[in-house]
Amino acid sequence: MTPRPTRVSHPRRERDTAVQLAVLSDRLEAAERRQRQLQNTIAAIGREAGVSVGCLCGHCEESYTLIKNGDMYCPRCGHRRSL
Ligand SMILES: [Zn+2]
Repeated sequence: MTPRPTRVSHPRRERDTAVQLAVLSDRLEAAERRQRQLQNTIAAIGREAGVSVGCLCGHCEESYTLIKNGDMYCPRCGHRRSL
């Protein structure tokens, strides 16, 4: 293991960190926007198919449940219960 230099300020590193933070911030913003767009699309697909989107599946937590004809089910793991 090589000892790290113990300088007080790291201007280069701080600049790199600021750039990385800006990149991550942009990516987060883009991901959140994409998530909103997909939520809108999913809600629209549900309306057209006569299905509403329920809560997160408590069984697998990998998908939101779908509600149709008084039945709530998870399209991912198949867990089902009637309302
Ligand atoms: Zn599930």
